[in-house]
Amino acid sequence: MSEPAPTIPGRLTLELGESASAQAKNLGLRNLKGIGPKTEKKLNERGISDQLELLLYVPRKYRPTYRFQPGPMMVRESAEWIEAIGRVVGVIPPKLHGRAPFEVRLDVDGADFKLLWFHLPYRGFDRPFKPGKSVHFEGKVEYRQAVASLSHPTAKVVDSTTRGTPATELVPVYGGIEDIGESILSRAVAEACENLSPLLVEGLPGSLLQDHNLPTIEDALRTIHVLDPVDDLDAFRQQLQKARERLIFQEFFDLQTAMAHRYVAERRAAKATPCSERDLGREMVRNLPFQLTGDQREAIATIADELDSRIPMRRLLQGDVGSGKTVVALMAAAIAIANGVQVAMMAPTDILARQHLRRVAEFFDGLGITWTHLSGSQGAADRRETLQQLKSGAANLVVGTHALFQEGVEFNDLGLIIVDEEHKFGVEQRQALMQLGRDPHLLAMTATPIPRSLAHAVFGDRDLTLIREKPPGRKPIRTVLRDRSRASKIYDYVRDRVKSTGDQAYFVYPLVEASEAVANRRNVMDSAQELANGPLKGLRMGILHGRMDADAKDAVMTRFSRGELDILCATTVIEVGVDVPNATIMVIENAEIFGLSQLHQLRGRVGRGESESMCILVAGYGLTDDAAQRLRAMIETDDGFQLAETDLRIRGPGEFLGMKQAGLPEFRFGDILRDASWLQTARKDARRLILGDAAR
Ligand code: ADP
Ligand code: MG
Repeated sequence: MSEPAPTIPGRLTLELGESASAQAKNLGLRNLKGIGPKTEKKLNERGISDQLELLLYVPRKYRPTYRFQPGPMMVRESAEWIEAIGRVVGVIPPKLHGRAPFEVRLDVDGADFKLLWFHLPYRGFDRPFKPGKSVHFEGKVEYRQAVASLSHPTAKVVDSTTRGTPATELVPVYGGIEDIGESILSRAVAEACENLSPLLVEGLPGSLLQDHNLPTIEDALRTIHVLDPVDDLDAFRQQLQKARERLIFQEFFDLQTAMAHRYVAERRAAKATPCSERDLGREMVRNLPFQLTGDQREAIATIADELDSRIPMRRLLQGDVGSGKTVVALMAAAIAIANGVQVAMMAPTDILARQHLRRVAEFFDGLGITWTHLSGSQGAADRRETLQQLKSGAANLVVGTHALFQEGVEFNDLGLIIVDEEHKFGVEQRQALMQLGRDPHLLAMTATPIPRSLAHAVFGDRDLTLIREKPPGRKPIRTVLRDRSRASKIYDYVRDRVKSTGDQAYFVYPLVEASEAVANRRNVMDSAQELANGPLKGLRMGILHGRMDADAKDAVMTRFSRGELDILCATTVIEVGVDVPNATIMVIENAEIFGLSQLHQLRGRVGRGESESMCILVAGYGLTDDAAQRLRAMIETDDGFQLAETDLRIRGPGEFLGMKQAGLPEFRFGDILRDASWLQTARKDARRLILGDAAR
């Protein structure tokens, strides 16, 4: 890449303008009244290092309080409603067991009032009502023995004996910082806000503030920190909402602007190899044993157009498990190869890489393309030869794992990079891969459909293509949840079905063997033994897990896919990508401990053939709420996009992808789920402003 990509901002920050008075400001916290070295240290520990940061420390809530204006004690009075301040002249405490109410006698401008509570609202409620105190109260008034009485009024001791009328005032409650008094904090914030807010750089274009009816940064902060008296609570609430939305929007807009800049920067280089020759791709399609779906055709057309340009493609292809992304990717590879460049296809596991190789062998048969394989477990001689083929250009295509961006890998002319299951790679790994070519085209794929909102936050600099349609003839997968105590019924079912139809089955376990035992978790080795000796005796059984070496894994997978094994007992190594159409039964043991996207990926291993498939989730007792939600979602739908939304809701965006890994910033104000529509708006606005109308 000719230019380093701009960094992506995370949390919102504030900046002072360039005016002399702005520059003359000392932003140190100690310049604020009431903040000494101790308090400063406390604030620093909270990540607040200067006054600008302090302005972004927003109140947790707002509390109404009273200020007094000179005037009579009676505030409001109608035939039956009264609001007033009275002085406590007597208290009759509640009797523990009797029916007698708690009674407070008040004097209001010389008139007697009784406040009555028949059951105290909470323990200790009566304590502050002491003779001499002032009480602000409000409620419906009745006359009992000629004394104005209020039953269960709203009442509050106010800490002033001043005569006067109370006016409601809102006080921000910051809270959360240990050992710093609330009043010190709010006074300091108010001082900083008063001084600095007029000098701040307005981070949003005026046109957007206007379009979305949002306040300036100055007004927003003044509202949030309640610098001006509040006369009308409802109006204040609306203003506050707008002020908050403004900060959320700005945070998203900054992010999306940076991403749009990156998008432009990556394209400005414009040194990708344009691929105009498409005949080889067409020939490949003619040779396919099936018809492409409409979505596949559309994806291929988009990609082919993009490849035919000096501007490098940056596309994310999303499709549910089994939607047929591989053939789309290989079609792109064929086009690139026909135009003289090399292609690297990277997969997160070697099992998957080897499966891609089998597809390559099938789809590229007779097209005159040469390909090779690179993995971490290769022998030295083998590896040397592969590296040589890549460097000389003798190999048109390499399929491999992380090994692709290790030392010593060089290409003659790498023009297209395909990354399968992209989210399984870290940001640095993705970048390292891009360095292997000069402005290579990039096609990323993911079968964990990322909800659109999240995709836009994480991959704002990518173009998205969706494959929603599944290849025709797929039968829906029946999914059921069974208790562990019914295991023997499940085994009977599997045995009968395998025997009568010749279909194959997967059994998935969380652990490899007993030595790593975690209470109540089943393991591959013991379970396979148990099945082979008992309920599934006589069936041909294989074992697959991550501790086997690559060749052993490959051998088992090959036997299973050729139908030489009936049952495959495995860990989640089969989660990603494995494709055996004759396998129609999936039993997932300890289903309660797997994540939703993982369960969906596992289930995606079946339902690939002509006959109806079955997924049996086996769970133990005592499901957590989250687990129950996940399993219920699995039973209710097999739409990956819908499940992804549910998963995101259950786990939150951070967990969903592994936030750091995906390069997703932690937002200070914005919440990708709650504020999804602001995120969309920010993306649209940023792209419109940076890329111009044409490039949207
Ligand atoms: P995924 O999107 O999960 O990577 P694959 O590319 O592995 O899906 O495709 C799943 C299976 O569907 C493969 O066996 C593939 O050959 C087959 N397939 C792909 N496209 C079609 C189609 N249009 N019609 C029938 N089968 C298809
Ligand atoms: Mg795949």
